[in-house]
Amino acid sequence: MSQNAQAEPARTKSGQGTRMTRQRALILSELKSVQSHPTADEIYGMVRKKMPRISLGTVYRNLDLLAESSEVLKLEYAGFQKRFDGNTHAHQHVRCVHCGKVADVMPEVDNPTLPEKMNVPGFTVLSARVEFFGVCKDCV
Ligand SMILES: [Zn+2]
Ligand SMILES: [Zn+2]
Repeated sequence: MSQNAQAEPARTKSGQGTRMTRQRALILSELKSVQSHPTADEIYGMVRKKMPRISLGTVYRNLDLLAESSEVLKLEYAGFQKRFDGNTHAHQHVRCVHCGKVADVMPEVDNPTLPEKMNVPGFTVLSARVEFFGVCKDCV
């Protein structure tokens, strides 16, 4: 039985705030190593190659923690699986209308400026964002 994948426990004397466990550090580095905006299931597949005993639940939980602490972006869209992005700089995405696959848009276009007299009852509108929709090469 190989034990070396499960070596030492996570750092014990980390400071305040969330503890960066080995699992979470691996999930973060795997996510930052790709530009594919993977789903949690895809990230699970990537991480499991290096940490075979990690569970899907652990991956899900850590992805949520990473998104809450703004270390990754969570891309949610009704009707599609959530996707994750290790690039936390503001950038724009195109999404395949068939399968939900996401890619970064280059070059970026300017986000729209809000109309001067914008009036939405019950809301103070703060910002607007450009999103692109398309068909990916697998869905053509
Ligand atoms: Zn597609
Ligand atoms: Zn992105």
